[in-house]
Amino acid sequence: MKTIIEPFKIKSVEPIRFTTKDERIKLIQQAGYNPFMLHADDVLIDLLTDSGTSAMSSKQWAGIMDGDESYAGSKSFYRFEDAVKKITGLKYIIPTHQGRAAEKILFSTVGGPGKYFPNNTHFDTTRANIEFTGSEAVDLLNETGKHPEIRADFKGDMDVEKLEGFIKKTGAENIPICFLTVTNNSGGGQPVSMKNIKEVKSVCKKYGIPLFLDACRFAENAYFIKKREKGYADKSILEIAREMFSYADGATMSAKKDALVNIGGFLAVNDASLAQQCRNLLIVTEGFPTYGGLAGRDLEAVAQGLEEILDEHYLQYRIRSIEYMGDKLVAAGVPIIEPPGGHAIYIDAKRFLPEIPPEQFPGQSIVCALYIEGGIRSVEIGSVMFGKYDKDGKLIPPPMELVRLAIPRRVYTQSHIDYVIEVIIEVFKNRHSLKGYKIIYEAPMLRHFTAQFAELN
Ligand SMILES: *Cc1c(COP(=O)(O)O)cnc(C)c1O
Repeated sequence: MKTIIEPFKIKSVEPIRFTTKDERIKLIQQAGYNPFMLHADDVLIDLLTDSGTSAMSSKQWAGIMDGDESYAGSKSFYRFEDAVKKITGLKYIIPTHQGRAAEKILFSTVGGPGKYFPNNTHFDTTRANIEFTGSEAVDLLNETGKHPEIRADFKGDMDVEKLEGFIKKTGAENIPICFLTVTNNSGGGQPVSMKNIKEVKSVCKKYGIPLFLDACRFAENAYFIKKREKGYADKSILEIAREMFSYADGATMSAKKDALVNIGGFLAVNDASLAQQCRNLLIVTEGFPTYGGLAGRDLEAVAQGLEEILDEHYLQYRIRSIEYMGDKLVAAGVPIIEPPGGHAIYIDAKRFLPEIPPEQFPGQSIVCALYIEGGIRSVEIGSVMFGKYDKDGKLIPPPMELVRLAIPRRVYTQSHIDYVIEVIIEVFKNRHSLKGYKIIYEAPMLRHFTAQFAELN
């Protein structure tokens, strides 16, 4: 088989700035050992997130010029609405400025104290928006999904038995919506099988609970279904996506992922009265229902991006580029979540740095080392992001300590990725010299964005 190449050529380039290791040692210290606090200009390869970092196509840029900026009834809104309906088949499409705005509106409407929202694994903003209303966010990931070293096809699946048990214990009336995140970002970007979506739907239906997809990476998930699940090899990505959404009563989406844009999102629902309540709130917090916090040009770019994401050549390259990086790291003995997911490589910090306990944030230690060694920016997804405290102030760590290297869409070439691999392997070889960290400042919510750290001796 021949090399799978980038299915595009480059028309416009953006230089990246080189720094020295000595400069980076100072810069990361000034940033409180939190890469979110670095100036992006001081980063060589930015793998902090795949969110809003996509390179837009020439057609998307053409759409930017073509956007209709009418306050109400913009033609760009109707193009956007058509594009979302074509894929989701959902009835009411509400544009928002990004995914969390859709979450905020939805949970403000259906959440509140005493309510519970199950998911395979809640993403950080989803969890925060649920908890902000006084509700509880519950993760019901299948057991295999919690073990980074076990290779399985659909490690994003929800544990259906646990879901049913949870509903019986909690009472269906206290569960306004059940969620499935496709792919499961916080659990390693792992896909959810069509079989699981169907089974979760059937349990939800039995108890009268609506099922929503957190659909940020629906196309990457659809591609995994095509490649790995029996009966889907000959179906198009659009057909698979449509089937996925056919089991859903609604969806939230950050268009900053699989719609290949730098800003945007939506909430989509089938229930007319829920749509009306959400639109009323949208007008207060985002804008009129035909733009919802976006410019007409943004809606145009989302509509175009949703067409491009369904291209199988693109998805083959996308998934292969992550797998390529995973193969090389595994061959060098670097512990990662296997098999790699759709949008990122997740280093297993527990196995990478077994001598640093969760209370000393092994993931953060790797994140800082990757920056110092090679100017690469990544993010901790472990006790910094999801750790809680018990009543005595002792850390309750999440099940996994991970470092995520998210790959922006259509941005870096294979030689960039080869460089990243070299840096990771170098840090891995020198892992015994890495130190733990302690937090010296933290915000009450989503602390990972602004926390400040100090190195331990
Ligand atoms: C990014 C993301 C969100 C939130 O979207 P934003 O556009 O960043 O607000 C929600 N869920 C998942 C799974 C995500 O990856």
